[in-house]
Amino acid sequence: MKRSLVLLGSTGSIGKSTLDVCRNLGPERISVHGLAAGTNWERLAQQAREHGAKQVAIADASKRDRLVEALGGTGIEVLAGPDAAARLVAHEACDTVLAAVTGAAGLPAVLEAARRGRRLCLSNKESLVLTGPILGQLARAHGAELIPVDSEHSAIFQALRAGSCAEAKKLLLTASGGPFREWSAERMATASREEALKHPTWDMGPFITIDSATLMNKALEVIEARWLFDLPPEKIEVVVHPQSIIHSLVEFVDGSVMAQLGVPDMRVPIQYALTFPARLPLETAPFDLARIGRLTFEEVDRARFPSVDLAFEVLRRGGVAGAVFNAANEVARAAFLDGAIAFGAIVRTTGRVLERHAAAGPGRGVATPDLEQVLEADRWAREEARRCLSS
Ligand code: MG
Repeated sequence: MKRSLVLLGSTGSIGKSTLDVCRNLGPERISVHGLAAGTNWERLAQQAREHGAKQVAIADASKRDRLVEALGGTGIEVLAGPDAAARLVAHEACDTVLAAVTGAAGLPAVLEAARRGRRLCLSNKESLVLTGPILGQLARAHGAELIPVDSEHSAIFQALRAGSCAEAKKLLLTASGGPFREWSAERMATASREEALKHPTWDMGPFITIDSATLMNKALEVIEARWLFDLPPEKIEVVVHPQSIIHSLVEFVDGSVMAQLGVPDMRVPIQYALTFPARLPLETAPFDLARIGRLTFEEVDRARFPSVDLAFEVLRRGGVAGAVFNAANEVARAAFLDGAIAFGAIVRTTGRVLERHAAAGPGRGVATPDLEQVLEADRWAREEARRCLSS
């Protein structure tokens, strides 16, 4: 089946890998209908020309004129403003959406894709962390397929072809452990920006690389898995696996365990999400088990990496807690990247904001919040995190 894709976040790391996959699949299998980006109009224009897009969306409306000029004579339509991406998704020519935007800015377009019954390939964490229950409900009501792009969730999605969610006893998410896996708590507390940006196995954007160093990335993935597979938190576990060869596993009720393995390469889960249920050829680095030699596993050190316990706390609280958790982390992470706070303060601040929210934040105790309540909690948590960091 030929798909017509709208790619949200085309200029970022996952966006670029997705366009590699489109090149690999060729126009007879996938056509790029639309591309959306935040501010990088130059790269967006170049991508739109190369892939023959019909429409582009730029969230930063001040870049509109330059983008129009760069696309002069191509006939490619330019949409601009914060709702431009959602308008691309709504276009009748689109049947598949890959959401690789980072942040809450991607939410309206993702919810629109579910409402329109598109195949929704999800790489935007916030859509599940902030609005997991809302998104799930919309997808079911409108027949949208939710397919994960994140390597861990893709692995679980693939392993679940061997048995149903109801037959699953446990989802085991693997974590590389990040660059500080073997560091002492004291050394970690004052780690530098450069040290935190050195990921041992995956080459990714700066935000997700810092989140891997704090294990916040894994914490967010626990929350994502809970909503994506609709399993209770007690059926989700994290295990550290430094080689990043096993991308995650499912243990079934009969004791059988299915794992998905492969060399770390984001193009693999991206392509699978686009072509599912088909598997099509893709050139990757050779998978050589003898050369890999050993696959090792260890428990998460919860004292050095408190973010994972915080994720389970978020799931216990439910409602808007995921939004608070994510927003506080984003603010603290940005402060660390700006050199304003120490590495150890990222997760500490996030935990503190979560505590304050439970005591006096908006939307606390609401079991099934709507989007407005989620976004209000998100705004509150950002302000509260800034207040924590400046005091
Ligand atoms: Mg991941």
